[in-house]
Amino acid sequence: MRSGFVSLIGRPNVGKSTLLNRLVGTKLSIVSDKPQTTRNRLVGVKQSSKKGGGQIVFVDTPGIHRPLHRMNVRMVDLALETIGEVDVLVLVHDTSAATGSGDRYVLGLLERATIPVVLALNKIDLIAKPRLLPLINDYRGYREFKSIVPISALTGDGVSVLETAILDELPEGKPLYPEGYVTDQPERVFVAELVREKVLRHTHAELPFSTAVVVDSFDDTDERGMIRVYCSILVERESQKRIVIGHGGTLVKKIGIEARGDLERFFAMKVYLDLHVRVREGWREDERILNQIGLTGR
Ligand code: GDP
Ligand code: MG
Repeated sequence: MRSGFVSLIGRPNVGKSTLLNRLVGTKLSIVSDKPQTTRNRLVGVKQSSKKGGGQIVFVDTPGIHRPLHRMNVRMVDLALETIGEVDVLVLVHDTSAATGSGDRYVLGLLERATIPVVLALNKIDLIAKPRLLPLINDYRGYREFKSIVPISALTGDGVSVLETAILDELPEGKPLYPEGYVTDQPERVFVAELVREKVLRHTHAELPFSTAVVVDSFDDTDERGMIRVYCSILVERESQKRIVIGHGGTLVKKIGIEARGDLERFFAMKVYLDLHVRVREGWREDERILNQIGLTGR
């Protein structure tokens, strides 16, 4: 059988996390229409039955962009570090967006990569087929790709072809994780991420970038089988706090209801979720908070 690590990389918002969830078959990584949704690295394990079987360990990464804050420097570093640590890279491209300097920036950073690179042309559900060929030709001119696979991470179109193309590039080897192992993401982080996903869904402009969620306490020892979670939603300014709370608390309530629904489905248990919105000016530069949300520097 084959096994190995496969990193999903690309610009923000191209669909890397949607693809990871689709490939693994479980929602592990949060998704939104805002760039820079994924801040951390996350592993999702796929037990593949194609080609004599294999274990593919997918690594979701933050989108590669020009960083403006310490937080973003760490995010991009995390994504780039995986290049040296995995067996195969899947470069994800959004076919529905205009190509430009951001794509060339990513390709430039991949120049020194000596491992196989597979190109996934994503979001083909949004474009007319004739637009694909010129794009494929452009990419062929930039560098060598082991294969180029048009997909829709949203509908699942082409994803099985991509899985086979990835498996082709993996070395032969024993499973890297025990059977049934799906992710390295701790429960607390998953909880915080789900809350953040709902915040992103309901906020706009700079707020998504200015928000972090930390779990203050996670208690699953309740005798009646209820999980009690206390979270803080951090924002940078009083005005942002007012927006997240909403008129008469309506928005934070909505965020809480949606997150609790997801959590109860995920844990198959009743969940009590307490959300507290707090102002932490400049948290994106604050080492302590960055460490708390798992973005440790090195
Ligand atoms: P990431 O930043 O690269 O991880 O991107 P996400 O997975 O968070 O997705 C960004 C946005 O693109 C979300 O709104 C997704 O629903 C959407 N998206 C991802 N893949 C597809 C796709 O194949 N088709 C369409 N139409 N939308 C997609
Ligand atoms: Mg993502």
